[in-house]
Amino acid sequence: MRSILGTAIFIFILCGPSFAEEIVQVDNQYVQEYKGRLGAWTEVKSQAQLNSLVGKFGTTIQEVREMNGSQLAFGSFLFMPFSDKYLQELEAQGVKRDSVVSRKNDFIWPISRVDNISSAFGMRHGRLHTGTDMPAVRGTPIIAVMDGRVVATGNDAGLGKNILLEHRDNFFTRYAHCYRWLVKTGDYVKKGQIIGLVGSTGRSTGCHLHFEIRYNDIPLNPLDFLPYKQNLSQPHMIRNWK
Ligand SMILES: [Zn+2]
Repeated sequence: MRSILGTAIFIFILCGPSFAEEIVQVDNQYVQEYKGRLGAWTEVKSQAQLNSLVGKFGTTIQEVREMNGSQLAFGSFLFMPFSDKYLQELEAQGVKRDSVVSRKNDFIWPISRVDNISSAFGMRHGRLHTGTDMPAVRGTPIIAVMDGRVVATGNDAGLGKNILLEHRDNFFTRYAHCYRWLVKTGDYVKKGQIIGLVGSTGRSTGCHLHFEIRYNDIPLNPLDFLPYKQNLSQPHMIRNWK
């Protein structure tokens, strides 16, 4: 009897935390996280603009260099950290990150507001379409669906600018046709953290995110893993590959 109880407790300790729901902070266009700091990715075009943003956000050039590398490339996106005071001002105006309830080992959606799938996972024109296509306007934040590490950022003819993340237990996720990626190979990312912006690079006919979940490099149907969304219009339930 005692050993059964012990086994039960052991299983609970092993599995309990993964069943527990937690509140996950999700980046939006206003407040974002990078390397443990809150701020915002901003396209910075000149030294004058940088100086003005540093003043506005209550940060310093030194801090901006620490976040982005010592060579600040104007014309690209820089992560601008916010001071505590600026964050408090935003919060007083009701501006803060979004939040979702999720269990530790569950995925969240890579785009916060998806009400349409433009192309489902499955056979398409005689080939396997290895992901789920989610239309979104250019510049929409793309979110890491689970804690992980950036394996690669690439730019190729088909997928355009794309990001590959590695997660627990040999799960990988890929985010393709990005307008920009905002993380580097080797970065650790948290569930809910912005990693890129939606675009239409590569072989793409309009702005959308092509999102893949792979297990040991086998592409799986993302809709079998993402939280159920009631408002999602078809082809959500088309499982023509089965
Ligand atoms: Zn696709």
